[in-house]
Amino acid sequence: MAADADVVVVGAGPSGVATALLLARRGHRVVVVDRARFPRDKACGEGLMPPGVGVLARLGLLEAVRATGARELRSVSYRMLDAGPVATAAFPSPGHAPEPVAAHGLGVRRLRMDAVLVDALRREPGVELRERMPVTALVRDGQGRVSGVGGEGWSVSARVVIGADGLHSRVRAAAGWTPAPRRGGARYGLAGHWRLDTAAMEGISVWFAGDHEWYQAPVGRDELLVSVLGSRERIGAIARDYADAVRASVPRLRDAELMGPVLAAGQLAQRPRRVAGGGLFLVGDAAGHDDPITGDGIATGLLGAELLAGRVDALLRERVPPAAAAAGYARDHERLWRDRRRVTGIALFMARHPGAARRAIAATHRRRHPMEVLLGVNCGYWGLGHLTPRDWLSLAGI
Ligand SMILES: Cc1cc2nc3c(=O)[nH]c(=O)nc-3n(C[C@H](O)[C@H](O)[C@H](O)COP(=O)(O)OP(=O)(O)OC[C@H]3O[C@@H](n4cnc5c(N)ncnc54)[C@H](O)[C@@H]3O)c2cc1C
Repeated sequence: MAADADVVVVGAGPSGVATALLLARRGHRVVVVDRARFPRDKACGEGLMPPGVGVLARLGLLEAVRATGARELRSVSYRMLDAGPVATAAFPSPGHAPEPVAAHGLGVRRLRMDAVLVDALRREPGVELRERMPVTALVRDGQGRVSGVGGEGWSVSARVVIGADGLHSRVRAAAGWTPAPRRGGARYGLAGHWRLDTAAMEGISVWFAGDHEWYQAPVGRDELLVSVLGSRERIGAIARDYADAVRASVPRLRDAELMGPVLAAGQLAQRPRRVAGGGLFLVGDAAGHDDPITGDGIATGLLGAELLAGRVDALLRERVPPAAAAAGYARDHERLWRDRRRVTGIALFMARHPGAARRAIAATHRRRHPMEVLLGVNCGYWGLGHLTPRDWLSLAGI
């Protein structure tokens, strides 16, 4: 029997939308299902890293996202909450890139950006968007290959199934690819928006506070995102009165107004056993995420979508067998994340060791090269090998 679609994508967040648009534009019939009805909000630090800006431009969506009030982000700075110097570095330019790459990120209000992306899906010929349809199960064919998804009283069959359903992916769990939760060290996050004139702000600032970090990014002319990441216990305590905790920690918000709800997410580290195989592919957070401490997740999800669309297109055109497409995508995904995970590891080490963070910030305040290199690694412009021995000494606070 003919399938309902060539591809069914579960999840209309940035990773799912980008994958669906790219496959539809290559001539494939795509159904996208999401449990939410858009516009929907999402707990996030809302900093889109520069390579993600490039993907939006290639999708033809950059101007529409900018028009939501998104703010250019040109730098990242780190400091300790109590006092001391600020270490700031501008996003580097890759220099060697074949096409111009933005040397800036964007502060994007997820509620608005995701709505713009979903509107693009609605307009795209070849895509059918179905909202308010929570997926609860995978459908398998007689050989055990994934051949569709289903929910209460409905199912969609497709030649390829893509799970883009976020950090706690139901699709991934249904495939048996979610490992048992790790004990200890689990991290959680909160995000809220504050009415504040952000005209003079042009970057992301991260404040280390011992066992948690405050993260601020302008996401509109009068809108500042303030998120906090930390242990379950610490985030639980802050959640009891997020507004008071922010006002006590961030002096410029002492008299500011908290706009809208405070959103929560966790546990943040999710590494699946596999990202592809048996007719199923995972992308974005569903394919794994370590921690957003370096302000990433959206950009890598968009880059992953480009890689995945290439592999799935080749599979659907029968240029490569399914197993080769799955293995190729698993390699792409590993390459995409390998050095970024190491940068995340360095940032998490600093977050957990305030003495080391204080020394590293003081040293990189004097000499910003190591931070610029790390920002470039996180953008995928070069590997960690770009750090010189002198840079490592600076990061060690020497
Ligand atoms: C506190 C915090 C701060 C962060 N800061 C940043 C940052 O500054 N920069 C950055 O780039 N990233 C950041 N991230 C990470 C970023 O939010 C994610 O990496 C990004 O949203 C992943 O996009 P996605 O499309 O993969 O998934 P999502 O954006 O989560 O979208 C998944 C979609 O799947 C749908 N869905 C879920 N389950 C089902 C189901 N069963 N059936 C149907 N649909 C379903 C959901 O409704 C949703 O629309 C942060 C995350 C947190 C929690």
